Amino acid sequence: MSNSEYDTEYVDVAVIGGGPAGLSAALVLGRQQRSVALFDDGRYRNSAATESHMYLGSDGASPDDIRTRGRRELAAHTNVSVHAETVAAISRSADSGRFDIVSGHRSTSARAIVVAAGQRDAPSQIPGLAERFGDAVVHCPFCHGFETLGARIAVLSERPTIPVQPAMQALYVRTHFSDDVVLCANGDDVPDALRERLDRHGVAVVDAPVTEVSGIRGDLVVQLDGTDPLRVDVGYHVPRFEIGAEFVHDIGCETDGACILVDSAHRTSVPGVYAAGDIARIRTQDVPLTFISQAVAAGQAAALWCDQDLFAVDAGLTA
Ligand SMILES: Cc1cc2nc3c(=O)[nH]c(=O)nc-3n(C[C@H](O)[C@H](O)[C@H](O)COP(=O)(O)OP(=O)(O)OC[C@H]3O[C@@H](n4cnc5c(N)ncnc54)[C@H](O)[C@@H]3O)c2cc1C
Repeated sequence: MSNSEYDTEYVDVAVIGGGPAGLSAALVLGRQQRSVALFDDGRYRNSAATESHMYLGSDGASPDDIRTRGRRELAAHTNVSVHAETVAAISRSADSGRFDIVSGHRSTSARAIVVAAGQRDAPSQIPGLAERFGDAVVHCPFCHGFETLGARIAVLSERPTIPVQPAMQALYVRTHFSDDVVLCANGDDVPDALRERLDRHGVAVVDAPVTEVSGIRGDLVVQLDGTDPLRVDVGYHVPRFEIGAEFVHDIGCETDGACILVDSAHRTSVPGVYAAGDIARIRTQDVPLTFISQAVAAGQAAALWCDQDLFAVDAGLTA
């Protein structure tokens, strides 16, 4: 519903983010006859990847295909409006309790919000790495490990990530996918105990700083300071990540690092605000599981409980 005087769109729920989590939430809410405004400015976490894996029924599909199919299914619900816009600010009206959402030249008023704004990977400072991230350099042995079976692999460490994390990744890919794995410590100290463990499992350690990454998947060249370059088929690199949207701090959601903390019903610490996908971590989980299937399921759960909470208010079921 639109109020022409203020050019404000009034909806039941605003969904922020149109990746798998947001699309899934909007589909559930649309089917339940909620009016929904979905905002998405298209900076998807996996936009650098050409293939997605582990999403049942779509293993190997491109991330874009998966989202396109989701958007097509949403189009059947005229009660869901989709806006290719950035949500710049959100505030809550003290009088009505509704959320006021500012995006582009639009103003939207919603009873509830599902935040599905994802996380952002900080681009690597190693020259040439960011351009190859998602193809010749991958980040996750679950998403991409099978595709690196038998490959020559370099795991690239980068500060401020402590070398333990890339070392564990090197150990993991060595035990699952390849007997040719090198940890590029990139000038960082690898503690002796860790070095011995890697050595025991056949992971070589190259200490020299990495000056550049060049080449393509299948012939990736890791340039090293003061020594010969390393030639491998594929690199692994775990980037540092950040919360996908700053506005979550404005509405006061409790966060932990790059995640909004939610309960098992995906309610945040702010009543009426739900969060799903990479941006959300259920309090009882040690780490968020940042995969497409998890995002789809979380979007569904957030939407379901959001709808139930609105129903409880409308039906006078709340105390
Ligand atoms: C390189 C790479 C490859 C991957 N491969 C796989 C794989 O093979 N299999 C797998 O299961 N997982 C994979 N993942 C993980 C997967 O991409 C994520 O788990 C998934 O995309 C999370 O979905 P999401 O909806 O939470 O966030 P996203 O897909 O990141 O979508 C969030 C959306 O919200 C938008 N947004 C943020 N802030 C705002 C705002 N203020 N206003 C409007 N819109 C906003 C963003 O621009 C983005 O479009 C991969 C990740 C990476 C980095």
